[in-house]
Amino acid sequence: MNRFFLHFSGLDTCYRLADGREARRHYLDSAASTLAMNCARQVADELLRHYANTHSQAHFSARIVNYVYDWAHRQVLDFFGLNHSGHHVVCFAGTGSTTGLNRLARALATRRPERDIVLVSLMEHHANDLPHRKQAGQVIHIPLMGQAPALGAVDLAALERLLEHYRGRVNYVAVSAASNVTGIVNPVHDIAALAHAYGAWIVVDASQYVAHAHLPLSDTGAAERELDAVAFSGHKLYAPGSPGVMVVRRALLEGQEPDELGGGMVEDVNVSGYQITDRFPDREEAGTPNIPGAAQLGAVLNVLQRIGMAKVHVAEQQLLRHLLTELAAIPEVRIYGDPDPDRTLRLGVVSFNLAGLEHGLVAAVLNDYHNVAVRNGCFCAHPYVRELLKPELWELDLDLDTGDAEALIQPWRGMVRASLGLYSTEEDIEALLTGVRDLLAHPDHYRAQYRADGDGNFRHQTFAVAPESLFDPEAVLHQTLGHLVTRSYML
Ligand code: PMP
Repeated sequence: MNRFFLHFSGLDTCYRLADGREARRHYLDSAASTLAMNCARQVADELLRHYANTHSQAHFSARIVNYVYDWAHRQVLDFFGLNHSGHHVVCFAGTGSTTGLNRLARALATRRPERDIVLVSLMEHHANDLPHRKQAGQVIHIPLMGQAPALGAVDLAALERLLEHYRGRVNYVAVSAASNVTGIVNPVHDIAALAHAYGAWIVVDASQYVAHAHLPLSDTGAAERELDAVAFSGHKLYAPGSPGVMVVRRALLEGQEPDELGGGMVEDVNVSGYQITDRFPDREEAGTPNIPGAAQLGAVLNVLQRIGMAKVHVAEQQLLRHLLTELAAIPEVRIYGDPDPDRTLRLGVVSFNLAGLEHGLVAAVLNDYHNVAVRNGCFCAHPYVRELLKPELWELDLDLDTGDAEALIQPWRGMVRASLGLYSTEEDIEALLTGVRDLLAHPDHYRAQYRADGDGNFRHQTFAVAPESLFDPEAVLHQTLGHLVTRSYML
């Protein structure tokens, strides 16, 4: 039973390891995707008894599904502490934040083409950088506080200098509420106030924030501190298979043709024209929506509100501080981002490297010998990771004029990331620390077990497990309905 008496799928999953042991998986990859909250899945599964398409009130099921789909949108408003006055619009789109951020980039560029600059923080995931590069005239990156590898949050003084320098040209500031690499939290409401003082808007990528702490749209209720648009992913919020979400000030989308056109979002169509509905979110959600995913997401948001995000945050901070303290006490560990949580708030994400050991090797050993699932690489945040690694890559002292330099740098360009969820425990952290200590105590032994492939992944020389031997969809089908299919339908 975990701290919040909730059940998640996949906490008791066991795998056989390279040393022959069968052990429970320690899932420390929640920043990529969280595990599924069972009670929320159950809501979606139960809804399937009534499943039908939305966009109709003709029969009982259609009415039920419409109600649940609207309810899921209302859960988002409630989760952000917003009233239901229509001032803010909640739209479900795609499978994660990426769709919402691309839509926002296009909509905001179209709305104010005369403001050709977007300021993007240096710590962004590519999803909150590249869409703006595509749509804006120019993207300028906002520097961070401190020095690598201990970089902090967005440098507000530097941001203000940019807003002043490009006065009248900055359309909006795009910033993450928390980094997917370091978990470092940005003061998004201070950034909103600064941006608004210069007539710029603020787009917040809350993908790494919403599962960990409460994010009010305005921290004080003051309009100048309110976030104009927020995007996040349901699959990072205990609802795999759910849509991405945009929460947007209605005025920013109103009167502008949506990106996608189709069914369910028009008043009328004739051969010479069409009239798009004024209703939100309908006009932004063309086609049949992901109804079970939305129901699941709404259910998670409802549960999290019952628990209270303040409680979730406090519990996670305890674990995080323990992890940071223990890692920092190991001399060979280098932690990225300001490691002092009293100076720079961070959420449950820690990226690190072990001196002299490639990040790919560390992740492989943690998985194969300790059943600790971490992620390694640059986490789709290349500019940030490059900046964090600069001092180390410099120390490698490679001759950058030789063609080999890139290949020599490659295995060192990246880090190992451990990230927490509601279900993470001290035991998971101990497993990670045990793995790190074990690897540091026997680096040559472990190195000899592996070879690196062309993509920088480390493959064990003698131990390999085919994924289909662990999970084969056809075997599951065979087990559950093999006889039924054969007897009733195929004979
Ligand atoms: N922003 C951040 C901070 C992320 O961590 C991610 C996912 N790794 C994204 C955006 C993109 O989210 P998705 O893949 O769900 O669209």
